Amino acid sequence: KTNSMKLQFVSRSANEGFARTAVSGFLASLDPTVEELADIKTAVSEAVTNCIVHAYADRIGIVYIAADLYADGRVVIRIRDKGCGIPDVEKAMEPLFTTGGEDRAGLGFAVMQSLMDKVRVRSQVGKGTTVTLER
Ligand code: ATP
Ligand code: MG
Repeated sequence: KTNSMKLQFVSRSANEGFARTAVSGFLASLDPTVEELADIKTAVSEAVTNCIVHAYADRIGIVYIAADLYADGRVVIRIRDKGCGIPDVEKAMEPLFTTGGEDRAGLGFAVMQSLMDKVRVRSQVGKGTTVTLER
């Protein structure tokens, strides 16, 4: 590990931009390309939005982000919540699956998977969810 950070904030949609900017600022030490940075910011946004709209659907909770940089250039970002959890992760990750009704496309996980090398999801109903993004 060559660098790492942790961050937490309340699940207000105004903080989605804060999360993007904070992660982006942290990654600056990697000297990433514009495209790389845009991809990672988009993936983080999708995961953070999910915490805000799904995990804490009817309340305000805390969103936790941890990021690690490795000597080989690998970036690992964890986005965690203590919200409602996901009963069937495999199904939730299928493109177009959503519990968000007509407001949502059900494409967040698909976007994360297309932009990052690895996406891992661990979730327990009633306890919360951790999404790990790697690139
Ligand atoms: P979109 O991201 O396109 O707006 P979406 O959020 O429904 O739509 P995904 O991001 O792919 O689509 O998520 C799929 C489903 O997984 C969600 O509808 C929700 O049921 C569940 N989910 C995702 N993240 C969480 C989370 N952090 N906590 C609880 N449920 C989640
Ligand atoms: Mg989503």
